This record gives sequence, structure tokens and C-alpha cells, in this order.
Amino acid sequence: MRQSTAFLTKIESKMEYRNLGRSGLQVSELSFGSWITFGTQIGQKQATELMTMAYDHGVNFFDNAEVYASGESEVLMGKVLKDRGWSRDSFAVSSKAYFGIKGLKDSKPMQKGNTRKHLTEACHQALERLQVDYLDLFFCHRPDKKTPIEETVWTMHNLIQQGKILYWGTSEWSAQEIMEAHMVARQNHLIGPTMEQPQYNMLVREKVEVEFSQIYKTVGLGTTTWSPLASGVLTGKYNDTTPEDARLNLSELKWLADKNLQQEYFDKVSKLTELAQELGMSMPVMAIAWTLKNPNVSTAILGASKTHQLEENLMASRAKHKLNQEVMDKIEAILENKPEHPPF
Ligand code: NDP
Repeated sequence: MRQSTAFLTKIESKMEYRNLGRSGLQVSELSFGSWITFGTQIGQKQATELMTMAYDHGVNFFDNAEVYASGESEVLMGKVLKDRGWSRDSFAVSSKAYFGIKGLKDSKPMQKGNTRKHLTEACHQALERLQVDYLDLFFCHRPDKKTPIEETVWTMHNLIQQGKILYWGTSEWSAQEIMEAHMVARQNHLIGPTMEQPQYNMLVREKVEVEFSQIYKTVGLGTTTWSPLASGVLTGKYNDTTPEDARLNLSELKWLADKNLQQEYFDKVSKLTELAQELGMSMPVMAIAWTLKNPNVSTAILGASKTHQLEENLMASRAKHKLNQEVMDKIEAILENKPEHPPF
């Protein structure tokens, strides 16, 4: 059931822009992605409404991947980009490869992984589905232990040289794997990964806050962080019951529901919701704004299946200014999950 928002102070969205790591690319601190939504929960009309709302509020980065709805998500996004006629120099669009369009289990051996063959094919196919001449960001969606890192780095470098992609990055790689890619790049005078796409939200913090803490400085790593609402758990809507039309009710996502629907999280979200209400903002807005307080987040990728959700979430840009140190300390006291930095 939709929660009452009567207590909310009207906070207009006010987008701010951040460098994508050490690159000069200015990405909107809130971006918009299509996982589970485009091609699964929603169709073309709703995708158009959501992307238009995002773009009109200053979002300039749209995230996608080959495996999202088996390529259909890129088809829907590509149609919006084409039909809206937005100037190509005003937005960035990404794709991610590794899983293969059919997923790891159903893709043939050459149709997945971070090999020269698959990354090149996946790039060409994403360009076609998205109806663009180049991808702004192209990610290795996961590390590939079967492919030498030299092959992956050379391939990404060459795709940049060919003008097919502008920046390359990783997703859910470890700091060590990212550094190995940088070592290879440095030794061969190639372009290394600019950005990593890790999960980051109030419930999942370790990688962004601790593991990568050195490489923000050394290699200037940028981050495009995912699931700022932990798939919706941080909205509070799962606290009492699982809403029928919600993501974690989808039968194919039982694994995600099992991971995210935990009493411990509900208890924290209840307390956080009270704090958010004291601040005159909703729980989702506070949770997203909290991720933006971390300066190492270049952009937090929003997800939404309904326009009222996106409209609400976009308020996080301005709401983050209300999260002063006192509020952040109160949040920390409720979360009790601050990851420890190693003692050196
Ligand atoms: P969130 O954690 O923010 O979850 C988004 C979902 O939460 C929505 O689809 C909606 O689901 C619900 N929701 C959002 N806002 C509200 C609201 N205000 N009130 C109530 N419910 C709300 O983000 P995602 O998990 O979608 O991740 C964002 C993007 O990150 C993805 O689209 C993708 O681009 C990227 N990503 C990357 C991954 C990677 O491995 N690199 C993995 C996962 C995501 P509902 O339909 O239930 O209403």
C-alpha cells in the first residue's frame, strides 16, 4: 500500500553534478537505471515517462546492461533516447557485459565473460539495441576468473580507441582486481578502468566505505553505486507485509527477497522512518540522500517502477543538505553497522 506522504515538507529536486572519479565527466549525482523494471515490470510508455521525468530533473546518466530483460531493457531505453530527440551530447548511457544476454546459465561459452570476443560482440549489440553510435560507459559486469586480465584491459582500451565506448569500468570487482587492471594498463600505456559499480546503501557499506578507500586516492576511482534503497526495503514498504505489485514479490526474485527481507532490517527502517519524519522527509528520500553524503559516490543510480516513486526519490539531491553531522550521527546510532577500517 502507498504510504501517506502528508507529513512531507515539499522539497524540490535540485540536481548537482560530480566528476566521475578522476575523469572530467560531470555526471548527475542521481542517475537512473532499468534493472528488473524495463521489459519486466514496465513497458515502453512507462519507461518513456520515467526517463523523461529523470532527464527533465537534470539526470544525465542512464544505466543499462545486456542481461537486463535479455536485451529488452536496452531496446526500450534506446527507443526513448531516439524518440525524445535529446541532444546526444547532453546525456550518457551505459551497458554492461559478462553474463551474456541470456544469463550465465543459458548463454553459450563464447556468449559471456570478459573475453575480447564477448566484450566486442556485446558492445556492438548494445549499440544496436540502444540506437547510439557509442556507449559513454561500458562495464565488465563481474570479474571473470577464466579470462586473463591483459585480454580484458586491451579489449576495453581498443574499444575506446575505436570510438565505440568513452570510459570503461567494472562492477562488483574487488579492489585487488581493479588494481590488477590498472597495473596492466600502466605497464602497456593503456586506459585503465575509470569507475566501479558496487552496491551501496545503508545496509551494504563495506566495499564503498572501506575496501576502496585507498584507490579513490591512488587511481582516482569513480563509482556509480546501485540499489540505494536495497531494492525497496529501505522505503519501509516491506516492514509489515510484502506488497503485491512490488519487486520482492516477483517469483523469479525469491533469492533477492530471501536476502533482503530480514526482521533486523525492518527494525532499523522503523526507527529511521521516525527520524526522517522529524526532518520532514520520507524514508526513501533520507536513505538516498545518505548515500550522497559520501563524497566517493560519483552518482547513485535510482530505480523506479512508478513515476510517483521517481518524483519522490529525486528530492534526495536537495534533502542531503538537511543531513548534518548531528543527523548522520543519529543515523549511525540506529544502523550500528559502520564498517571498521583496518588499523593502518
Ligand atoms: P533501488 O534499491 O532504489 O530499488 C528500486 C526499486 O525500489 C524500485 O524499482 C521500486 O520497486 C522501489 N522503489 C523505489 N523508490 C520507491 C519509493 N519512493 N517508494 C516505494 N518504493 C520505491 O535501486 P535498484 O535496485 O533498482 O538499482 C538501481 C539501478 O542500479 C538499477 O536499475 C541498475 O541500473 C543498477 N544495478 C546494478 C547492478 C550491478 O550489478 N551492477 C545490480 C543492481 C542494480 P517496486 O517495483 O517494488 O515498487
